[in-house]
Amino acid sequence: MPQYAEVIIDLVSNAVDRPFHYYVPLEMQGQIRPGMRVEVPLGNRRCQGYVLRLPRESAVDTLKDITAIVDSEPLLTPEQLALGRWLSMRFYCRLIDAVHAMIPASFRRGRRPGDIKVVEPTEQAAEVNLERAPAQKKTMEILRQKGPLPGPELARLGSNNQVIRSLEKKGLVRTVTVRPDRLEPGGGDGEEEQAPLTRPHLLREEQTACYDRVKRALAGVRPEKMLLHGITASGKTEIYLQSIAYCLEQGRTAMILVPEISLTPQMIEHFEGRFPGRVAVLHSRLSVAEKNRQWQMILNGRAKVVLGARSAVFAPLERVGLIIIDEEHETTYKQEEAPRYHARDVAWWRARYNRAVLLLGSATPSLESYYEALECGACLLNMKERVTPIQLPPVQVVDMREELKAGHRFIFSRLLLEELNGVMERDEQALLFINRRGFAGFVLCRECGHVVRCSSCDVSMTLHLDRRIMCCHYCARETAVPETCPSCRGTKIRYFSAGTQRVEDEVKKLYPAARLIRMDRDTTAGRHAHSLYYRQFREREANILIGTQMIAKGFDFPDVTLVGVVAADTTLNLPDFRAPERTFQLLTQVAGRTARGPRGGKVIVQTYHPRHHSITTAAEHDYLSFFKAELENRRQLAYPPFSDLLRFLFSGPDEEAVFEAAVWMTGRLEPAAGKAEILGPAPASLYRIKEQYRVHTILKGKALPRLAPGIKKVIREYHGRKGSEQVRLAVDFNPQVVL
Ligand code: ADP
Ligand code: ZN
Repeated sequence: MPQYAEVIIDLVSNAVDRPFHYYVPLEMQGQIRPGMRVEVPLGNRRCQGYVLRLPRESAVDTLKDITAIVDSEPLLTPEQLALGRWLSMRFYCRLIDAVHAMIPASFRRGRRPGDIKVVEPTEQAAEVNLERAPAQKKTMEILRQKGPLPGPELARLGSNNQVIRSLEKKGLVRTVTVRPDRLEPGGGDGEEEQAPLTRPHLLREEQTACYDRVKRALAGVRPEKMLLHGITASGKTEIYLQSIAYCLEQGRTAMILVPEISLTPQMIEHFEGRFPGRVAVLHSRLSVAEKNRQWQMILNGRAKVVLGARSAVFAPLERVGLIIIDEEHETTYKQEEAPRYHARDVAWWRARYNRAVLLLGSATPSLESYYEALECGACLLNMKERVTPIQLPPVQVVDMREELKAGHRFIFSRLLLEELNGVMERDEQALLFINRRGFAGFVLCRECGHVVRCSSCDVSMTLHLDRRIMCCHYCARETAVPETCPSCRGTKIRYFSAGTQRVEDEVKKLYPAARLIRMDRDTTAGRHAHSLYYRQFREREANILIGTQMIAKGFDFPDVTLVGVVAADTTLNLPDFRAPERTFQLLTQVAGRTARGPRGGKVIVQTYHPRHHSITTAAEHDYLSFFKAELENRRQLAYPPFSDLLRFLFSGPDEEAVFEAAVWMTGRLEPAAGKAEILGPAPASLYRIKEQYRVHTILKGKALPRLAPGIKKVIREYHGRKGSEQVRLAVDFNPQVVL
């Protein structure tokens, strides 16, 4: 009977992004399993590929033979094979991109260590007398002392193959196959330091209620998704730890994802201290050897808990019972290159596959997650009280329009200056925060704060000085640059800008003797720069830390008594529909950086939009009000969670070719898009990056995944089209950043 194998070729190319069929030659039958790698002929070359399935028949009748088997064990689990197929559909990637995302590159290079054959004594061995066969007797003694050993190892210790075969014939030993880890109890090299053990806390009332709910879900058989909305220091981590412990008691495994930046040594110690020897840690700073060791721990079943950043969601854990995503609103859970997956979606897929529980946690949940949890009814867990005595700091909002009216045109308001002076006098510490990009594309009236926005997309219009127009970067609507403010008739129309460099210069002028640290992408390029600055600031070698997003997290210093947000508007006016949400999250996070010590602390937010709901609600630490206001905006314009978005981003060095490709594709998408709205093509907000022109088309509609098969077909057509190589197409399902 002929046997077939369906193989995906291990080449990152659109040309081979489909399954190929091969014959399984007679001598390989029974040895090949799905998930293994094989060597196959393709055209006139040899390639490696992954076996997807072993179908009973094939429509093609001129098939070639598989030429070799690469792995002795499948590299991909059945779950990963199914997940890969889903990823390629949901996130529009090549199947091979999905496979590569699931297995680290270093692991793919080596062979999966297969099972090992060892020689072990049988029960009869105890009764037999081997006085007349000294070589055999010696072998048996070695085995008695050392336990089962591989043949070559026995030979090294003074036995040989002939002796072993004789013993086998007498039924005194047998050869059995074992997993490699059985040979080294404990598995480790004994050199690692053990994290100090930590004991579970006695839970508070709110914590108990949440924990009980998670326990109930874990005891059930249905997959469940829950959101834990708990303010900072409400003790979420303790819930995670105890839920994981409960899950392990049930004989299942658990996974916890955290943003890369919070995977600090303390964090790791926390988990290793609670589950000693059973935690595998995965993050991008691991050496190749270390990463392989962690993976091996998962594969051989020693690791029951995986702690890691985004890509750890693919860890090949078996019998997963609980998946936790901490800080679930963080954009870093979305991968920006293929496969452009969101860890939350992948986690939910795995939870359903394993009938497991997915627990999302955040102090500022994403609108999507909070909305979904509310709709479900019993899926929202709340913790509103702090476990620690730290109080939330007071937040003061400064209206920069008033500053201007009072003749004060400086980048720092009078209030912020006064507070900065106080910090310097008392020798305390301050953080000054400016948004990452210092995106300066929007136009603002300095008298009333008005910003021109697109009437159909509600994102700020971007100024193009060269053509003297303003443009909406979602729908391509253009308008003239106003001479006077359309809202107040004022004449002080400004192009907005404020960057970390500028703030640093001003602070230097103000306090020539002050010690400053500036942290942004330019100053932290070196590998250890981040931890160096962290240490310097902690040791009080500087009074003022100026920084971007980077300092919004994890900087917990008791002597920081002032946080200044220099220009909340840079985030608020990003031409992205999530700008208000990002602003709220950022302000909440930044505020958490102060009032951590006995001296307390305060937050000052400078803005031209003191009445904007992102700012007023963040100042009141009021998530629910923010959620309600912002949800209404999303509903009106049918943005997520009321729709899905699918973004087609075209980029290339030739401006005309990029536009032409975008126009062509948009035309083809029309019949495939069903009821979805098509926006664009329009120049992307960041129109030119590194000599590449960027143009996008956005599909907006309900239940977009249903359209995937049709859209995939159009994408395939696109790649088959002449000239498609010079314009890169990136398809992004529910992009987190639309710039
Ligand atoms: P979150 O993750 O919500 O920000 P954490 O889990 O970090 O909060 O908790 C803040 C601090 O409170 C931690 O030091 C933690 O060990 C401690 N903690 C948590 N739960 C309890 C409890 N029930 N009793 C005492 N201390 C607790
Ligand atoms: Zn628009």
